Amino acid sequence: MKQPSRLRAIPSVEKVVQALGDTGLLRAVAVDLVRREVAALRRAGGAPDHAAFLDRVRARIEGLRLSRLQPVINGTGIVLHTNLGRAPLGPAVLDRLLAVGGNYTNLELDLPSGERGGRAACLEHALALLCAAPAATVVNNCAAALVLILRHFTGGARKQVLISRGELVQIGGGFRIPEILESAGAVLREVGTTNRTTLADYTRAAGRGTALILRVHRSNFFMDGFTGSPAPEELAAWARRRRVPLVEDLGSGAVLDTAAVLGVEREPMVQEVLARGADLVCFSGDKLFGGVQAGIIAGAARRVNALKRDPFFRALRCDKLILGALEATVENHLRRGDRGHDEGELPVLALLRLPVEALRDRGERLVVALGDLPARVSLGAGRSQAGGGTLPRAAIPSVTLDLLPRELPLAELGRQLRQGHPPVIGYVSGGRFRLDLRTVFPRQDAELAGALRAVLMPPESAAGARR
Ligand SMILES: *Cc1c(COP(=O)(O)O)cnc(C)c1O
Repeated sequence: MKQPSRLRAIPSVEKVVQALGDTGLLRAVAVDLVRREVAALRRAGGAPDHAAFLDRVRARIEGLRLSRLQPVINGTGIVLHTNLGRAPLGPAVLDRLLAVGGNYTNLELDLPSGERGGRAACLEHALALLCAAPAATVVNNCAAALVLILRHFTGGARKQVLISRGELVQIGGGFRIPEILESAGAVLREVGTTNRTTLADYTRAAGRGTALILRVHRSNFFMDGFTGSPAPEELAAWARRRRVPLVEDLGSGAVLDTAAVLGVEREPMVQEVLARGADLVCFSGDKLFGGVQAGIIAGAARRVNALKRDPFFRALRCDKLILGALEATVENHLRRGDRGHDEGELPVLALLRLPVEALRDRGERLVVALGDLPARVSLGAGRSQAGGGTLPRAAIPSVTLDLLPRELPLAELGRQLRQGHPPVIGYVSGGRFRLDLRTVFPRQDAELAGALRAVLMPPESAAGARR
């Protein structure tokens, strides 16, 4: 008799949906979620407490609603934040996305002949020019570029890839060089030691089975002290003598002189790495390059063309939106040329170049605007970062908006701001909740003030304060 009464306690999907009211989610999605929760309840044999069940469904719905892709305010000071979507795009790129996405395009049509044409011919041409490379192409991301390269060059009898032990790195979540190699069917041959690798080490490790020399840019950390590796030109000459391709995974891939143009630490440039003899380089489209997610491969025409003919290339090819966005990004870079900047500058570069004085002016206005909040609001000295595993040593002076609420604990302030409209992401340091203004777009200042006000002085408490 016990079982039937418990089953009766299971509410109908319709009742639960009614009880929830407006969820902020598309109705079909909310109903589907409720259906799954009710089914789970039934499998578990029923729930005694109706209110607890409703709370659980509400929390799931809220979690799902917040996971919808939406703009957030980045107060972390990390310009290329992988969790926040890396490079924001500028007007030239967005215009191109609209034009290419909303219309038919000549993606694979050669307009003069009316025949089927190659994808991205103009983009590849412009990329090669920008990288000072004989040829270039693109795939979905830098990880894909690396897998393509590894599979291609280790697909035959030779399987071994030589990598210095100092370059067997992990980049971000789930990208570990040894695992990428393994997944591509390549055999790792470690060379030298963690801190020092010499040409003699490469010679000792090389053999009949050597398919490729891979150098991986240590993008997210740096080594200091008793360290060393062969000069790039020497390693390139060594590889050429053995007729083994030398490939460099640059990750961030600066196409500009970051020291001269951005006033930060110098990131190795694609152009110079190729000039020093690498056969191929690969790098991300959405790190310092400032565009969309893509993996750019540049280098010797023979090598690039062979990669493009590899059947696996087809599985990694980019969509028209990506190709269009990259084309506009490359044009931004080419226009910038030697002047170091151009009108429609890429947001990543513009943010990295923002002078501290401009940030302080905005910060001062925000402090005034937020003067009535129940919190101590002040400006602090921040240290922005390029992020995205680039320029690990560069701490760019910045300005932070610092908050110390009278009542709300800092972690709770952070939590509520993340769930606000729009979500605001900051960090706790030195007993303050801090928002680095470098990564907040000036057009977001009013929204930021509104989001802070909504959390620190919700309407009901504002009314209470007036009473
Ligand atoms: C970021 C990075 C990658 C991965 O690039 P994605 O475009 O995210 O796939 C690979 N190698 C290095 C050295 C990196 O810094």
